[in-house]
Amino acid sequence: MTRISAEITNTLTLAVDLIKKSHYTVALTGAGISTPSGIPDFRSPGIGLWTRFQPMEVASLSAFRHNPEQFYKWLHPLAVQMHMAQPNPAHLALAKLQDAGYISTIITQNIDGLHTRAGAKNVLEVHGSLDTLTCTNCYQQYSSTTIIEDYIEHCTIPHCQVCGSILKPDVILYEEQLPIKTWLEAEEACKLCELMLVCGTSLEVMPSAKLPIQALDHGAQLIIINNADTFMDIRAAAIIRADVAEILPQISNEVINA
Ligand SMILES: [Zn+2]
Repeated sequence: MTRISAEITNTLTLAVDLIKKSHYTVALTGAGISTPSGIPDFRSPGIGLWTRFQPMEVASLSAFRHNPEQFYKWLHPLAVQMHMAQPNPAHLALAKLQDAGYISTIITQNIDGLHTRAGAKNVLEVHGSLDTLTCTNCYQQYSSTTIIEDYIEHCTIPHCQVCGSILKPDVILYEEQLPIKTWLEAEEACKLCELMLVCGTSLEVMPSAKLPIQALDHGAQLIIINNADTFMDIRAAAIIRADVAEILPQISNEVINA
């Protein structure tokens, strides 16, 4: 048995009720949903990559163009972690809720592809994904499955088989626009939804953090499941301050089986 306080149990009941009543629910997920899969929140101060490197010096578009070798070296430990990672109970619970018809769209700030690997459909990756790469010259797109082993093992920089130019992973770097089609779909889903489930994000990264505001402004209700405070807590119908990998499976069970 997991230890859950009475306060959380009450909020959990409310959350289950809201999910059951909603006709259109969107989940918005962030780094916190992938930390139980062993992927560090690389934006958090004190953790990992952002503290060892100045992000603008390696993870910006101009840095990539100027020194792709350095970029691929920087990305390597993160790519290894994401390649090894498996979906955790939080990803699986969302996929299950979606499969049962309780969630329409999953919008994620994560680039690890774990929602899709958990079986989720209609996943909008607003910061892009490591699953594909695109040639910087002829725009030919490649699946990372053909490239990843070599990169993981030898840190080999991937090149285009058509024109020989360097490939860039389809993740959004600093100085880059969000993928416009995906972003517009995400905004549309937020405007149409009746309920938004915010999971594992502190809503600190713009412009994704604006999505719950759009949902609320169009009449939706908000459930926030996160370990830390967010600036939207004050406007949420239910706040569950707990680990998503613990709470989402419970919610999913109660919504589907109760
Ligand atoms: Zn090419």
